[in-house]
Amino acid sequence: MKDRPKVIESGNSKDAGCYVKQVTCTGKGQGGGGCGAVLEVNMQHIYPNNSTNGFHFVCPECHNYTSISVPAQIAQQIRSRYDSD
Ligand SMILES: [Zn+2]
Repeated sequence: MKDRPKVIESGNSKDAGCYVKQVTCTGKGQGGGGCGAVLEVNMQHIYPNNSTNGFHFVCPECHNYTSISVPAQIAQQIRSRYDSD
Protein backbone atom coordinates (compact mmCIF):
# COMPACT_ATOMS: atom_id res chain seq x y z
CA MET A 1 0.00 0.00 0.00
CA LYS A 2 1.31 3.41 -0.95
CA ASP A 3 1.97 6.02 1.64
CA ARG A 4 -0.62 8.76 1.35
CA PRO A 5 -0.66 12.35 2.56
CA LYS A 6 -2.11 12.90 5.97
CA VAL A 7 -5.19 15.12 5.96
CA ILE A 8 -4.74 18.05 8.31
CA GLU A 9 -8.01 19.70 7.43
CA SER A 10 -10.49 17.99 5.19
CA GLY A 11 -11.76 20.06 2.30
CA ASN A 12 -15.15 18.59 3.09
CA SER A 13 -15.16 20.18 6.50
CA LYS A 14 -14.93 23.68 5.12
CA ASP A 15 -18.64 24.00 4.57
CA ALA A 16 -20.47 26.17 7.04
CA GLY A 17 -22.00 23.38 9.09
CA CYS A 18 -18.59 22.16 10.18
CA TYR A 19 -17.00 25.54 10.83
CA VAL A 20 -14.54 25.16 13.68
CA LYS A 21 -11.87 27.57 14.75
CA GLN A 22 -9.23 27.49 17.43
CA VAL A 23 -9.19 30.75 19.34
CA THR A 24 -7.63 32.23 22.42
CA CYS A 25 -9.64 33.98 25.11
CA THR A 26 -8.14 37.46 25.09
CA GLY A 27 -11.10 39.73 25.63
CA LYS A 28 -10.06 41.44 22.41
CA GLY A 29 -12.54 44.04 21.27
CA GLN A 30 -14.62 43.56 24.39
CA GLY A 31 -12.57 45.50 26.90
CA GLY A 32 -9.89 42.88 27.48
CA GLY A 33 -9.82 40.65 30.53
CA GLY A 34 -9.48 37.32 28.75
CA CYS A 35 -7.92 34.44 30.67
CA GLY A 36 -5.78 33.09 27.81
CA ALA A 37 -7.65 29.82 27.49
CA VAL A 38 -7.33 28.15 24.09
CA LEU A 39 -10.74 27.17 22.85
CA GLU A 40 -12.29 25.46 19.89
CA VAL A 41 -15.41 27.28 18.81
CA ASN A 42 -17.96 26.46 16.17
CA MET A 43 -20.90 28.39 14.78
CA GLN A 44 -23.06 27.54 17.76
CA HIS A 45 -20.64 29.32 20.08
CA ILE A 46 -20.46 32.54 18.11
CA TYR A 47 -22.93 35.36 18.59
CA PRO A 48 -23.54 38.51 16.61
CA ASN A 49 -22.74 41.77 18.33
CA ASN A 50 -25.27 44.29 17.15
CA SER A 51 -23.43 47.31 18.50
CA THR A 52 -20.20 46.59 16.59
CA ASN A 53 -21.75 44.63 13.73
CA GLY A 54 -19.15 41.97 14.53
CA PHE A 55 -19.15 38.66 16.35
CA HIS A 56 -17.97 37.32 19.68
CA PHE A 57 -17.77 34.15 21.74
CA VAL A 58 -18.02 33.65 25.49
CA CYS A 59 -15.21 31.87 27.31
CA PRO A 60 -16.52 28.94 29.38
CA GLU A 61 -13.81 29.47 31.99
CA CYS A 62 -13.82 33.19 32.71
CA HIS A 63 -17.08 34.16 30.97
CA ASN A 64 -15.47 37.12 29.23
CA TYR A 65 -16.37 38.02 25.68
CA THR A 66 -13.78 38.02 22.90
CA SER A 67 -14.37 39.37 19.41
CA ILE A 68 -13.89 36.97 16.55
CA SER A 69 -13.84 37.47 12.81
CA VAL A 70 -15.64 34.91 10.70
CA PRO A 71 -15.90 34.36 6.95
CA ALA A 72 -18.76 36.19 5.28
CA GLN A 73 -20.60 32.97 4.56
CA ILE A 74 -20.49 31.98 8.22
CA ALA A 75 -21.42 35.46 9.35
CA GLN A 76 -24.55 35.29 7.26
CA GLN A 77 -25.58 31.96 8.77
CA ILE A 78 -24.98 33.10 12.33
CA ARG A 79 -27.01 36.24 11.76
CA SER A 80 -29.83 34.27 10.19
CA ARG A 81 -30.20 32.34 13.48
CA TYR A 82 -31.12 35.58 15.19
CA ASP A 83 -33.11 37.32 12.49
CA SER A 84 -36.34 35.79 13.73
CA ASP A 85 -36.00 37.41 17.16
ZN1 LIG B 1 -11.41 33.06 29.37
